[in-house]
Amino acid sequence: MIPAVMPTYARYDIAFEKGEGVYLWDSKGRRYLDFGAGIAVNSLGHCHPHLVEAIREQAGKLWHCSNLYAIPGQERLAKRLTENTFADSVFFNNSGAEAVELGLKMIRKYQYESGHPERYRVITVEGAFHGRSLATISAGKNPKHTKGFGPAVDGFDQVAFDNLNELRAAVTPETAGILVEPVQGEGGIRPMRKEYLKALRDIADEFGLLLMFDEVQTGIGRTGTLYAYQWSGIAPDILASAKGLGGGFPIGACLAVEKVAAAMNAGSHGSTFGGNPMAMAAANAVLDIVLAPGFLDHVKNRGKRLRKGLEGLVKKHPTQLVEVRGIGLMQGVKCTGDSSALIKKAIENGLLTVPAGDNVCRLVPPLIVEDTHIDEAVGLLYQAISEIAEKAA
Ligand SMILES: *Cc1c(COP(=O)(O)O)cnc(C)c1O
Repeated sequence: MIPAVMPTYARYDIAFEKGEGVYLWDSKGRRYLDFGAGIAVNSLGHCHPHLVEAIREQAGKLWHCSNLYAIPGQERLAKRLTENTFADSVFFNNSGAEAVELGLKMIRKYQYESGHPERYRVITVEGAFHGRSLATISAGKNPKHTKGFGPAVDGFDQVAFDNLNELRAAVTPETAGILVEPVQGEGGIRPMRKEYLKALRDIADEFGLLLMFDEVQTGIGRTGTLYAYQWSGIAPDILASAKGLGGGFPIGACLAVEKVAAAMNAGSHGSTFGGNPMAMAAANAVLDIVLAPGFLDHVKNRGKRLRKGLEGLVKKHPTQLVEVRGIGLMQGVKCTGDSSALIKKAIENGLLTVPAGDNVCRLVPPLIVEDTHIDEAVGLLYQAISEIAEKAA
């Protein structure tokens, strides 16, 4: 018989009951160190007092309010996001896929309003993940996600990772924009080189294309800057944000420069739940912490320690592990085989990580993680790898 919950996930047989900081407890009372953070969502860990208080206070005042009316929390959050980024204007929605989808719509609308309705195609990169809506699976072109869901949404051309010649050659008179993740997440924690991102900016400018970054996973301090593009020295025209922005409360945001946002006149887009007072209270509380002086330096330093610890593991176990890659607190360990054995063993030992493509075990702990937690995680991972290596020997 079909389970009442649709069977779209291959789930681990654990149910969590409560969380505090970087720890979770399951229904049997067992404690886990959480280096998955709900897939880079619980940016402040579990039940952060400031976040709990903000939600509690808002819950007693107003939960939902239509976008027919002014929502002061939106104005505050949008102001903070624009003041701290390249962007001039923000639209709020409820998830990563929605934020990316709006960015794709804006690419088309901007070209249309600029007298180029023939420009509608978007170039994406192999290994990309942009969400599970029809347009975003069509953009990602991952056969695992598109199979059986055809015909694909038209208008996406994919090029090889880190190949500028191929990208340049893919530009046609119908090309409207370029969409990339500065660090591919689901694809296996693959950072794009600074020079590559700079070249994308140049190509976009040369051909009149819009440059869009999907920072759904890399955003909100994950890599040690508010957004990962801030490492590169260039800025996109459009940016999709979600995951860590609400600290666990569902929210997405699509940020844009003025010329792009100006193409989105009243009535051109909408969302019932997007930007509701609860989500705004959560995201504003997250920013209170992430934008506080010193916080992003804390992330950078913890990221360095995690990186060093993981590199040590690769040195000790070269037959099991290939390399470490990532930026800040978004790190991946590439295994010589499927990473799922390691991830499963780590869970048995009390450490949660997340699988990613290309045989990668992904570590994306809460940003509030301390050195002691990092050392504990590296130790648990070492134990897991050693147990696997022993069995294989
Ligand atoms: C998770 C993710 C998405 C999709 O976000 P949802 O909230 O699941 O729709 C899109 N892009 C990237 C880079 C992501 O990591």
